[in-house]
Amino acid sequence: DLSGTFTLNNGVEMPYLGLGVYMSHNGEEVINAVRWALEAGYRHVDTAPIYRNESGVGQGIKDSNLPREDVFVVSKVWNSDHGYDKTIKAFDKSLEQLQLDYLDLYLVHWPVVGKYTDTWLALEELYKQKKVRAIGVSNFLRHQLEDVMEIAEITPMVNQMEFHPFLVQQDLIDFCQQHKIQYEAWSPLMQGKVFDLPEFKQLADKYNKSIAQIVLRYDLQKGVITIPKSSKKQRIISNANIFDFELSQSDMKFIDDMDRNHRYGPDPDNFEWSV
Ligand code: NAD
Repeated sequence: DLSGTFTLNNGVEMPYLGLGVYMSHNGEEVINAVRWALEAGYRHVDTAPIYRNESGVGQGIKDSNLPREDVFVVSKVWNSDHGYDKTIKAFDKSLEQLQLDYLDLYLVHWPVVGKYTDTWLALEELYKQKKVRAIGVSNFLRHQLEDVMEIAEITPMVNQMEFHPFLVQQDLIDFCQQHKIQYEAWSPLMQGKVFDLPEFKQLADKYNKSIAQIVLRYDLQKGVITIPKSSKKQRIISNANIFDFELSQSDMKFIDDMDRNHRYGPDPDNFEWSV
């Protein structure tokens, strides 16, 4: 069931499979990707102003002719827009680009040192004004989550992190679970590198599924929301075909044991946030 959801700590249902659109070019490429995904049954799209394709995402949603409330739309506040007032403005700009009058989820994209707590207060205000149905963070390690929760009235509903078989961060997953913060994976396919791993070729053969389907199914069985990126129609369709099989407990453990705490993206404690 493609419309399957996890329930966030405020009761909002978030579809556990979404389309990622980082690097999907604004215009035909992203419009088609979003439209094909929605036709295939996806009900969740993950964008950000830094991807420079929010207007195409909005167009794809419009072209799908689905009722607005059927699609879960996520965007994020970029690093250069941190701070209370700038965040409120950046949110309004995202809405305008997406041609929407509310978002389903708005995230703090990265924990910019010294700024993210003020930014969080702006997200709380947007939430109270009902301009967004849920608010959360991205790339927040435990200490950054603790900083936010210390000043927050509202606990983040989601933490979107780099997550794949080489970077599980089980301690952080457990911490989020304790605090009812839904864990979400970015780069679930290791930005394509998972396709080179023989272990996954073996699992794919065993279950008669594709490598992508094995990895994305692993995410779901971990209770982690996942947003694989593709702009190719057949891949978008096939990446969603993960609801007709189940990985055994021992294969789940086998994948868990591949963890080597390896990042392909930046380290949240040491990243270039000034861009
Ligand atoms: P990903 O792990 O989803 O991998 C995408 C790559 O895999 C692409 O090159 C694509 O062509 C390839 N691919 C996809 N399906 C395939 C298939 N079935 N067969 C063969 N190749 C396939 O990488 P990603 O784009 O980095 O991450 C997914 C999404 O996460 C992004 O699009 C974005 O929305 C989000 N993201 C968020 C952050 C953040 O800081 N919050 C950072 C990076 C990405």
